[in-house]
Amino acid sequence: MQHYLDELNTPQRDAVVNTDGPTLVIAGAGSGKTRVLTYRIAHLLEKGVRPQQVLALTFTNKAAREMQHRIAAIVGEANARNLWMGTFHSIFARILRIESEKLGYPSSFTIYDTADSKSLIKSILKEMKLSDKEYKPGDVLGRISSAKNDLVTPPAYARDVARMSADQAAKKPLVYEIYARYMKHCYQAKSMDFDDLLLNTNILFRDFPDVLQRYQQRFQYILVDEYQDTNLSQYRIIKKLAEGHQNICVVGDDAQSIYSFRGAKIENILNFRNDYPGYKIFKLEQNYRSTQTIVNAANSIIAKNKGQIQKNVFSEKESGHPIRVMESYSDVEEGYRVADDIAERRREHHYTYQDFAILYRTNAQSRIFEEALRKRGFAYKIYGGLSFYQRKEIKDLIAYFRMTVNPNDQESLKRVINYPARGIGSTTMDKLEAISAQTGYSIWQLINGYTPEQLGINAGTMKKLHGFVQLIRGFGMKLLDSQAADLAREIATASGIMADLMADKSVEGQSRAENVEELMNAIREFTTNKLESGEPARLDVFLEDVALLTDQDSEKPEDNDKVTLMTIHSAKGLEFKNVYIVGVEEGLFPSQMTIDSEQGVEEERRLFYVALTRAEEYAVMSYAKTRYKYGELKNSTASRFIREVDSQYLEVLGNSPFTSPASRPMGIPVRQPERPAVPSRFKPKASLTQRPATPSIQFNYQTSGGDYQAGMLVEHERFGRGVIDNIEGSFPNTKVTVTFEHSGTKQLLLKFAKLKIL
Ligand code: ATP
Ligand code: MG
Repeated sequence: MQHYLDELNTPQRDAVVNTDGPTLVIAGAGSGKTRVLTYRIAHLLEKGVRPQQVLALTFTNKAAREMQHRIAAIVGEANARNLWMGTFHSIFARILRIESEKLGYPSSFTIYDTADSKSLIKSILKEMKLSDKEYKPGDVLGRISSAKNDLVTPPAYARDVARMSADQAAKKPLVYEIYARYMKHCYQAKSMDFDDLLLNTNILFRDFPDVLQRYQQRFQYILVDEYQDTNLSQYRIIKKLAEGHQNICVVGDDAQSIYSFRGAKIENILNFRNDYPGYKIFKLEQNYRSTQTIVNAANSIIAKNKGQIQKNVFSEKESGHPIRVMESYSDVEEGYRVADDIAERRREHHYTYQDFAILYRTNAQSRIFEEALRKRGFAYKIYGGLSFYQRKEIKDLIAYFRMTVNPNDQESLKRVINYPARGIGSTTMDKLEAISAQTGYSIWQLINGYTPEQLGINAGTMKKLHGFVQLIRGFGMKLLDSQAADLAREIATASGIMADLMADKSVEGQSRAENVEELMNAIREFTTNKLESGEPARLDVFLEDVALLTDQDSEKPEDNDKVTLMTIHSAKGLEFKNVYIVGVEEGLFPSQMTIDSEQGVEEERRLFYVALTRAEEYAVMSYAKTRYKYGELKNSTASRFIREVDSQYLEVLGNSPFTSPASRPMGIPVRQPERPAVPSRFKPKASLTQRPATPSIQFNYQTSGGDYQAGMLVEHERFGRGVIDNIEGSFPNTKVTVTFEHSGTKQLLLKFAKLKIL
């Protein structure tokens, strides 16, 4: 076997073997930063460092898993197993479970997801008699989250002039009060949200120096990937842990800092030199991922940002295919054109589905691509958005699991205390919630510790509440001695959820029951895996895995040969042979909210750089001329980012995105209007490629059918160009069948179709 150090170039190898002292690896995309981190860990283990002494922080669980595999391949499975490697959240959740009692939490605390947090904020608004129109829960949560990531606790918030006046200006002067109550409620419910995991770790290390010291001694080597996207809370944890030995290695790229909206501070990487004066720096310049064209094009656009660390990134791979600029008439057509292009590349270059990724700015864009891929029968997987674990039936069952582990988990209790129906009405629940807010006891504690008279509830209702308590207690008693798969099955049945779903014979009902079965399969698989590796296979361990999933973590590892659909944010660190960056339009990418500030646009440009540098061989920038936004059809124009890429690397299909000739960069090779191959069925009637140089578009939307004939070339504002196959019926119900170039065959009601004759 080749020695692992031989798989590195000189600067990479230097960065790997110089294991001691503070180390900064700063380099452009695809230059092997993650590889260096991985090999450095392997090297440490080879030198005799014990895996328990190594703390490695990655951006996703998946990245941690992949690193682990690679390291295991070098140093052996057994040696790689006990590394502390994972996301910030998963590692510090693990530490908090060990130390939580110091902070007044049981080790079985629940981790709230965003939906739980929003629901809690809604209850607090009700409690404070505030309107959720003025205090939108998502917005309030954003403010709370930003405070936590900046380590601003509720009392500090009230003293924070900048935050208080920003809230005033936004007409939300009471956010600080909501925040204080939110913290209290979470504490009562023995629950923490994602940001709390980091905030509480900071509090733990601040208030318990002996605990900090223990972890400082344990983690002799600390390594952090994607350091440019750490927030203050994460930064502080790392800084404290590394204080003694200073064996800290961070890798990152300031040009890929894309999470400032979540509190990430690009300064963390820039200030590394001040934080650790004895640091060593390694610069990696050779990109091993992408063709020269892609690397050069990416360099040309990121150069438009001011204030960045100078980097020289080059590729020695082939120069490769130019970057394709693809124009569509509408968002719908964009979906079909991308699907067509995937089909063509698969056919001509023998790629498999997993070689393709469609990257978009916002999750909402995914639907159209899903539809186009589904119509062609292409396998695909979507990351983020409404994931499996956010479906109602899954959340319901998970709420039972969470109650089993932590019965004080109030959001779960509220969710399922009357599901399936047990005759516990909202009046009772409102009453209990109000008492809970007043007394500081959780609803669970109230039911257990008080008489019906004290709670103002009648005996019948109390009996039902006790019935629920008994049910949950019964599950709880089995937790420690059962395997997750068995207990999960028992809960699904005994709670009545299974019967409730089975009783619903509608298609939706069936599919909900299937989803629950799918969850059971996942838990069965988890159980088998854990048992095989000799680890605990309890339900609470399974819950922890689910709670810590990130947008980038595929829920099913066997999801292999599929086209990937994800936001650009989620694509960080990944690579694909073919990448479609879609919706590259002004107002969408860069997004409307950022357009007015230079900082905002610069962050979007970094995001664009991230998108383009995911591609190994082939990249497409696609935009549509019309798009539905908030239910209205809007015109859109090509993004400035397309214009900013040095034109020598582009291949423009169809019309130039640079509408006025004056603004078109010189020398741009416009390939007019050679579109992808026209399906043969078009050809006998009319050829779409024989479009006149200046299209004579007539805006005559006749609805009688009179002017339209079979064989005619037409244009629809969403589906693009097509040929009329057939016209039938009479005014006003005339129907027209059109086969569109990229959107398939559709039957349309002529009076609404607004077909332009070309
Ligand atoms: P990003 O900035 O996107 O996170 P990165 O700097 O972390 O990128 P890697 O993902 O580590 O880069 O490497 C990019 C690709 O190049 C990977 O496929 C990796 O295996 C490969 N690679 C890195 N270094 C070498 C090398 N010395 N020889 C061959 N291939 C390499
Ligand atoms: Mg990387």
